[in-house]
Amino acid sequence: MNKESNFESGRCQCGDITYTLDKNKVISAHHCHCKDCQRTTGSGKATILFIAKKYVDLNGELKFFESKGSSGSHVRRGFCPNCGSGILSYSKEISRILYVKAGTLDDSSWITIDSNFFTKSANNWNKPDESIKCFEGNPSIISGIKTILKSF
Ligand SMILES: [Zn+2]
Ligand SMILES: [Zn+2]
Repeated sequence: MNKESNFESGRCQCGDITYTLDKNKVISAHHCHCKDCQRTTGSGKATILFIAKKYVDLNGELKFFESKGSSGSHVRRGFCPNCGSGILSYSKEISRILYVKAGTLDDSSWITIDSNFFTKSANNWNKPDESIKCFEGNPSIISGIKTILKSF
């Protein structure tokens, strides 16, 4: 198989920020229904891909906004400073893993969502998909990812 075909591209609305990522290195994909994601996206949830930072090639300078997550971690959300599109976020405590916003990919048809986070704050107009795993609040998979990280 051609190695190039592993790479997926994405960008912000104005095009100042572009990126490519290796889709074979995506750890997992999630819908996050927490209030912070609702506010920062202006929608019912954020859909994010977990991937190690080294597999994402970002072009352009993101502006970061930091907020404190419910577990006490510091979540930094990166936006295009020109058009405001949210591109990715990460927890300051696990900065080697990025949470890429799935909607910024040029083609996201290959994504399969693994689970829902913070279903307790989901809205009735954007109900969580109950056919996949649901976490009422903060998923404990973050600590699992710390273990995964050791294999990178
Ligand atoms: Zn932009
Ligand atoms: Zn969230």
